[in-house]
Amino acid sequence: MPLISRNALQVVFGVFLFLLISACSNTQKISVSSTSATQQQVSSEFDKAIENSVTYDGLFTVYQDTTDGSVKLQINEDQIDQEFIYFGMSSNGVLDAGHFRGAFRENKILKVRRYFDKLEFVHVNNSFYFDNESPLSRASAANISDAVLFSTEIEAEDKENGKLLINADPLFISESLSQIKPTPNPRSRPGEFSLGRLSNEKSKYSEIRSYPENTDVIVEYVYDSPYVTGSTSDAVTDGRAVSVTFQHTFIEMPENNYKPRFDDPRVGYFITQKDNQVSTSATPYHDLIHRWNLVKKDPEAELSEPVEPIVWWIENTTPTGFRETIQNATLAWNEAFEKAGFKNAIQVKVQPDSADWDAGDVRYNVLRWTSSPNPPFGGYGPSFVNPRTGEILGADIMLEWAAFRSYTRADDLFTGSFDFFDMHESMDPRYCSISQYLSEDRQFASSALLILDDAGEEDIDGLEKQAMTRLILHEVGHTLGLNHNMQASSIYSPEEINDPEFAAENGLSGSVMDYHSINVNSDHDAQSLYYDLQPGPYDVWAIEYGYSPALDDPEAEDARLEEILSRSTEPELAFGNDADDMRSSGNGIDPRVMVRDLSSDPVEYSADRIQLISTLLDGLVEKYGTIEGQSYQELRNAFISIMGQRARQTTVISRQIGGVYRDRAFIGQEGGTQPYTPVPAEKQREAMSQLSEHLFAPDAFEESHEVYKYLQEQRRGFDFFGETEDPKVHDLVLGMQVGVMTHILHPSTIKRITNSRLYGNTYVAADVVRDLTSAIFDADASGNVNTFRQNAQVEYVKVLGVVLESDQHDNLAKSAALHNLQYIRGLMEDKGNVNNETMAHAAHITYLIDEAIES
Ligand SMILES: [Zn+2]
Repeated sequence: MPLISRNALQVVFGVFLFLLISACSNTQKISVSSTSATQQQVSSEFDKAIENSVTYDGLFTVYQDTTDGSVKLQINEDQIDQEFIYFGMSSNGVLDAGHFRGAFRENKILKVRRYFDKLEFVHVNNSFYFDNESPLSRASAANISDAVLFSTEIEAEDKENGKLLINADPLFISESLSQIKPTPNPRSRPGEFSLGRLSNEKSKYSEIRSYPENTDVIVEYVYDSPYVTGSTSDAVTDGRAVSVTFQHTFIEMPENNYKPRFDDPRVGYFITQKDNQVSTSATPYHDLIHRWNLVKKDPEAELSEPVEPIVWWIENTTPTGFRETIQNATLAWNEAFEKAGFKNAIQVKVQPDSADWDAGDVRYNVLRWTSSPNPPFGGYGPSFVNPRTGEILGADIMLEWAAFRSYTRADDLFTGSFDFFDMHESMDPRYCSISQYLSEDRQFASSALLILDDAGEEDIDGLEKQAMTRLILHEVGHTLGLNHNMQASSIYSPEEINDPEFAAENGLSGSVMDYHSINVNSDHDAQSLYYDLQPGPYDVWAIEYGYSPALDDPEAEDARLEEILSRSTEPELAFGNDADDMRSSGNGIDPRVMVRDLSSDPVEYSADRIQLISTLLDGLVEKYGTIEGQSYQELRNAFISIMGQRARQTTVISRQIGGVYRDRAFIGQEGGTQPYTPVPAEKQREAMSQLSEHLFAPDAFEESHEVYKYLQEQRRGFDFFGETEDPKVHDLVLGMQVGVMTHILHPSTIKRITNSRLYGNTYVAADVVRDLTSAIFDADASGNVNTFRQNAQVEYVKVLGVVLESDQHDNLAKSAALHNLQYIRGLMEDKGNVNNETMAHAAHITYLIDEAIES
């Protein structure tokens, strides 16, 4: 709702104002106080201060002046020193400013304290736990700093009624409660956009809502700058005046019988992390899992409805064709809750078009849709909690239409900036990339359907419904408290996954919280599931751990939970989250915990996928190059989605080399193994051999030759200005190759290869590096070298040179690098009768090696 303009209020008053506000908001008990001095005597300083204000009664009573829009906040005496939950969310933003609609930003405990004639807003530290029975709890404040975020003079006090009033503009039209403007990044590049200064003049209230249990103040922050500081996206209208709308919500601390449940390393919940300061345990953790407060209506019944179900609203922005699929996918979680004793734990309703509430209202859990320029995510399922207990109080799911739009990262693929190697979501573990994965995979599968089977709309529709189901299952899973499980896709064999009957019964993986590869059969008639369509065995088990009702007796309860956890060694319950997964080189150790992989034999599965990719590349021109009357853009997009898959699959294969399986079973747990077991040497060698064949061999990119001359992007305005539009195929191929060689030669990989020899690894660093050298050099050692291989060989020699000089690699890695550089130099000396190009190449390699060794 826009700020009520000053002009409107100067002209009309009273009744009209009341109607205006009522029409735009469902806030309770709005009234205009003291509309006329004759009607109501100004009885006190307090009343005078709020004269001519609109009143929003609720948890905190808020007064907004009807002349200038300024806001005053009433704090009751009994609210002083009480804890409140503060929750901050971007209501709207531009990504250039680090904000986007629905981004949950802050969830903390606030207290209002009185200091003589002032009130202070204090952020209370919640990182430590002191058992009140321990005398140490008397020192619980020692060396722990609460943060005084804001302090202001009390403007008026009504002692009789215990009411205090402050001018709230400096509190809200400022960044006191929550930092809005991002901290400058010391590594920001010249020309990068940054917000100007906060303008007190232009910033204003968008909306105020107050209810008995929560008060929302929504502010449009305007950042001003005399000139534009850097390049912006089209979403920014004018870089000199950029708005971010931010919602501040105060929530009453719930008083209920909710009992926290604690985290365990074997199951993956989001947590509020706290250290137990009085414990002498080796793991003094008091980490609260995030979960909803489900209580059985009938505590005696094995299966009961909850007193308060989790209610989801499908926002009225949702494309109608998908609403049923979204509803069914959300409700599919109910089956998991049945194992935890709850019937109909989740309900789904559709927000009517005429709804008088806003999806930003924290009392509603809403599945929301946006179609943003440059979306930072494709789906995002955040929840906010009571930081004292971990109880989830509300959640939203932000869905991006980008997941179902065409894949448009074409340029990056040819300029070498294409992100072959998925970066970890750095900002917040709740950020979720599932939608980008689904988008890429869905387009790949569409191309496969078209090329292999000439598939019609019905087939594509079926594929999209599965993708949507999977997206919703995943995001709803987040809002139930579950974090990612990137190991779940490793539990079934390739044969099982490709068996339609098996897949229909068991699904493809252990959890919908994985980012596994889409399952595409090269034989369309034998196509099993593309994606899981219901929560997997891990999900059901995790919900049982989190939600099954507690026993009253603490000891019996501990034993009951331990019994559930003791099942963690069952193969279907395998778990590893983002912190474990190997998508970025240097992160993770266990190749089973990986994104974009599938099956218990990811090397075989990926090699199969690469075969399929070859077939598709062979058929690409025939299928897409014959659609008359359109440009080659669609052919180009299909090529990119197919080649993107190829990069993903070789990355998956590479993770076996130097891999170590890790087991988080507790000591004595049935089915547990030692914590660390190296990947068997033959599996590592098999991965190396597949990489040699599909990534480095002289004919590895043979099949795509026919397509290169068609890879044209459709011209748009002057978009090619400063660029050259011809496809940079060599950059594309080299990008894939370098990604794999730098992973294998990453300091962490190569150190792990040596350290894991102490507990069984037999594929030693010297052999790994020699095998990689062989894959890149041996096939054409004495003959002519093709252009892809020339690139790979030069780049590999450079990488070995870096290893030799690096202070992060161990000595064994350096020895292997030196030895292999000498070996390669020998190969170059032995070049026989080769063409001019290969002679030049050999001279280049020899020069680089001499530089590396002699410098
Ligand atoms: Zn996710």
